[in-house]
Amino acid sequence: MQYIDIANQGVKSLSPYQAGKPIEELERELGISDIVKLASNENPFGFPESAKQAIRNQLDNLTRYPDANGFELKQAIAKKFDIQPNQITLGNGSNDLLELFAHTFAGEGDEVIYSQYAFIVYPLVSKAINAVDKEIPAKNWGHDLAGFLTELSHKTKLIFIANPNNPTGNFLTEQELDAFLAKVLESVIVVLDEAYTEFTLPEERVDSFGLLKKYPNLIISRSLSKAYGLAGLRIGYAVSNPEIADLLNRVRQPFNCNSLALASAIAVMNDDEFVTKVAKNNRIEMARYEQFCQQYDLDYIPSKGNFITIDFKRPAAPIYEALLREGVIVRPIAGYGMPNHLRVSIGLPQENDKFFAALIKVLDLTQAK
Ligand SMILES: *Cc1c(COP(=O)(O)O)cnc(C)c1O
Repeated sequence: MQYIDIANQGVKSLSPYQAGKPIEELERELGISDIVKLASNENPFGFPESAKQAIRNQLDNLTRYPDANGFELKQAIAKKFDIQPNQITLGNGSNDLLELFAHTFAGEGDEVIYSQYAFIVYPLVSKAINAVDKEIPAKNWGHDLAGFLTELSHKTKLIFIANPNNPTGNFLTEQELDAFLAKVLESVIVVLDEAYTEFTLPEERVDSFGLLKKYPNLIISRSLSKAYGLAGLRIGYAVSNPEIADLLNRVRQPFNCNSLALASAIAVMNDDEFVTKVAKNNRIEMARYEQFCQQYDLDYIPSKGNFITIDFKRPAAPIYEALLREGVIVRPIAGYGMPNHLRVSIGLPQENDKFFAALIKVLDLTQAK
């Protein structure tokens, strides 16, 4: 028998998530070292010292279950953002939270709305619960919120919006989001995925916790994998009205966040210096990427994230492969329906220099054919 025949209907249309290529894998394949990975929007500054210390302090406690309620981390988050701890839900990475939202609010036949070229986890979690996913065609690679409104129906349970979006880096302003939320019924949950918000400038940043005071159907999702540098530990948090947080807490697995992740997250929540340094490097280096692209006549999507997506106007797979041979890992995004683009995470200055040099070499080679 074929087990796919007995799997949930939605699972049949899924394919496994394609992660960025690990450095060790390329080392094994090519027998080279000195590899630069700019493929998963990870933090180029490495694991923060404040978190290392927090982990050392936890080592003797690992025989116990973690605090199932994440009391101290919720206190730290609440204090930092002037919100209440009972508004917070912790996740094993924010991907865990995205799945939790789907499980809590949508079921078979319910409609879930998200944008074309939006984060691939939205269709993944929607299809897995046999929901009907409605992908709204993108406008200039970003969310067409007017298009979202035309697809709302009495079956709509959930809307996913990534801001800034991954893999395109598009950004919606607070005014645009506010105007949209004003037109959505309170009975539809709107998830605002802000995995990259720390990279936006303070003056342009969306005051999403302010929006939450106006719109009780809003859930804000945040990650500690990007600006905070904790990708390997898997920790994120959601902020919502307390009633929604209570519902999420019923569905959440009891010990979804481990002790090391909790302790590290508390440490980095109080480590503004680290995040400021990371965001500053990102701004300076993003400007260099834009200059580089302009100089070499490469089209790119202007990005508010810690990555930039370049349009090569021809299949990008050979360019990706050639970059690998130069020891540079970037991210192909054909799985998003963008086969001519590559997404490049912004690294440290010397990593970016290596990418620039490798790309110049590779473009010469691949064009010559
Ligand atoms: C990276 C990313 C996430 C989540 O990452 P976690 O590591 O699971 O916290 C969520 N949303 C978007 C848009 C992302 O790019």
